[in-house]
Amino acid sequence: MLQAMSRPPLSFNIHRGRRNTKKIAFNKAYMEFSEALYDWDNLRKTSHHSNEAVNETFAKCLTSKYGWEYWDLINATPYGNLHRLKNKRIEPVLQKDFDQIASQVDQALLTLSENRKRRAREAAYRENREGVAQHYQRLRSKQPQVILPPLPVFRRLPVVMMIQGSPSTIEKPANVSQTLQKDAFFIDRLETELAQWRRQAKKELGAVLGYPDWRTASTKILHPVERITARFLCKVCSKVAIRYRDDNCLDFPGACAHQCLGTKKDKKQDEVWKAERFVKDDKAIAALSKLLDLCELDPSFEEAQVLLSVVGNTILCTSCESGLVLNSKCIVGHSHRHEDMQMKLLLKDEAAVYLKYPFVPSLVRNLSGSERRIKAIRNKINFGCRHCLNAQEKKRAAEMQVDPAAETTSQETIPRHTRKKDVKRFSFNGLWSHLKEKHGITDHDIRDEDIFVFEPIDFKSTK
Ligand SMILES: [Zn+2]
Ligand SMILES: [Zn+2]
Ligand SMILES: [Zn+2]
Repeated sequence: MLQAMSRPPLSFNIHRGRRNTKKIAFNKAYMEFSEALYDWDNLRKTSHHSNEAVNETFAKCLTSKYGWEYWDLINATPYGNLHRLKNKRIEPVLQKDFDQIASQVDQALLTLSENRKRRAREAAYRENREGVAQHYQRLRSKQPQVILPPLPVFRRLPVVMMIQGSPSTIEKPANVSQTLQKDAFFIDRLETELAQWRRQAKKELGAVLGYPDWRTASTKILHPVERITARFLCKVCSKVAIRYRDDNCLDFPGACAHQCLGTKKDKKQDEVWKAERFVKDDKAIAALSKLLDLCELDPSFEEAQVLLSVVGNTILCTSCESGLVLNSKCIVGHSHRHEDMQMKLLLKDEAAVYLKYPFVPSLVRNLSGSERRIKAIRNKINFGCRHCLNAQEKKRAAEMQVDPAAETTSQETIPRHTRKKDVKRFSFNGLWSHLKEKHGITDHDIRDEDIFVFEPIDFKSTK
């Protein structure tokens, strides 16, 4: 009974049998088709590879016949497209196919080779120029100072042009920096040409100073341009390089190396150095001459410069209303403030009155940094105005002269709060505004001699 119930009906078995037969037939057909497809694919791959090899051999034959680079032919010429198309279609590239595009292929390879040569020449030229610039910087950092023309003019010296080459002729980099340093011929030639250039510059700048055709038989007397009094201004840009910022004018080496700043860039103009761009700095020359007179020094001799530097902070500018104490290094820059700067030399004791707060060289320059540490130093209420300080000292000295008894009692008679208030303290920016408003000193003209610090500043400290 149970068996009869679990057995499927006869019609169901017949149906399932038919379905299995169909499936088997389908699977068989599918297998046959797959096998055929597999065989076809294998055959296709084999023919593809063998055709590729045939085409590659054909292309290589072309490259060896014409002396081309295989990858250039494939990647940079119309042959490459033909080659790839024929590979895809499993067809051989025939000689007649190539013949149709032969001239285009040759032209493409010619352009490619020319572009490559041009790029190589440009790279070699850039490298040579870099080598020249390196050697120029090497000469510039030499001590004692080497007098040089600006870099674009230096590049135009015949020996430099020869070694630097030009983008159209150069074949390969010439290791310029090494050659100019080690090759005796180039070292000698460069020195000769620079000496020649300097002689001409000296002659022309001498004329600017009012000494055309200056000559002497003396080996001790300096040429006018080599004297401490030789100071120049550029008529074209009126600017100076950073190292001349304190002086705001140029000496002979400075004028020789001067390249106009901030003017419309004209490369061709930069390549020519002309003494006629400069005028003599009358104010600086007059101030220096006055100082030399006061010190009884003759600028024609080399010693004058050395002896002037030992004068120290004892020069009083009497053209400044309150009197400012200067040293010989400040004179040139300071002289531009006055039409006709007057000065006198102080004895050490007299100068000490003005230097109750010591003179700090390069103070303004050191304060111009943008680092956070420098900003903090600038914000500190630690700066004073020397103009006001000196005016007060002058007033006090005058009062003492009127009433000599005041000298002994002055400290007691002047109320304490008034004395303290006398010497006003500023932040650097506050002092900046004060100098502008009270003393008419513009932003760019603030100098070390205008200011003092109450507490010494340690610029080297990393805190
Ligand atoms: Zn200039
Ligand atoms: Zn002055
Ligand atoms: Zn002041």
